Amino acid sequence: MRLIIFGPPGAGKGTQARLLEDHRGLTQISTGDVLRDAMDQETTLGKKAKSYVEEGELVPDELVRALAEQAIADEGYDDFVLDGYPRTDQQAEWLTEFLEEHQTPLHVVLRLQVPNEELVRRLSRRRVHAETGETYHLDHDPPPDDVDPELIVQRSDDEPDTVRNRLEVYREETAPLASYYEDRGQLVSVDGTGGIEDVYERITQVLDELE
Ligand code: ADP
Ligand code: ADP
Repeated sequence: MRLIIFGPPGAGKGTQARLLEDHRGLTQISTGDVLRDAMDQETTLGKKAKSYVEEGELVPDELVRALAEQAIADEGYDDFVLDGYPRTDQQAEWLTEFLEEHQTPLHVVLRLQVPNEELVRRLSRRRVHAETGETYHLDHDPPPDDVDPELIVQRSDDEPDTVRNRLEVYREETAPLASYYEDRGQLVSVDGTGGIEDVYERITQVLDELE
């Protein structure tokens, strides 16, 4: 299956994509994860992306296009879940063209819907493992006891000012993509509130109906 998991920062895209990877054999393609790895390793891409990511701005389209297309090609154009891509009209159009060229259209775009106050609550308590990039939530999905607490850190773009900017950027540049996919008959909205397992159950129902 080929799908996009779509929604604002903090909606649970990464968490649900990881569950889809574990339970349904889909590969999570997260442009955010690739960019953070590139920044850690100080590659050319990482150096170009750093200031945008740290300020909560979008990285230029051409840069993320290249890495998303490469990741999809590496997966053989199937069995992937895109997490955090596309985020602009231009990216969405490129993606449609790219998948059409390979006769591998998307099966569905799942939009996770979560109210703003809850997004802010989730992001303020999000923590990541400094080495593996694994995501946790201090209350809802805490790191296991055997993990060294010193390795559990907050992403610099999860600081309150940057979160505000990211939510604004989402509203202006990314949220309108919902209409793009709705017009193409590919959008399915999913209630993203409640527990992690509850949300996963709703996603499972949507995917089972498509199969
Ligand atoms: P996104 O990738 O959309 O930014 P994440 O998957 O990283 O979102 O989730 C944001 C934060 O909220 C993380 O700390 C995650 O553990 C937590 N989280 C994810 N889903 C839920 C949920 N259903 N209820 C409560 N917390 C959640
Ligand atoms: P979140 O999980 O909170 O939605 P991500 O981890 O997906 O955030 O992305 C973190 C940052 O990486 C974004 O704020 C942006 O700077 C950059 N980024 C990730 N994906 C894209 C994209 N498709 N286009 C432009 N910038 C991106």
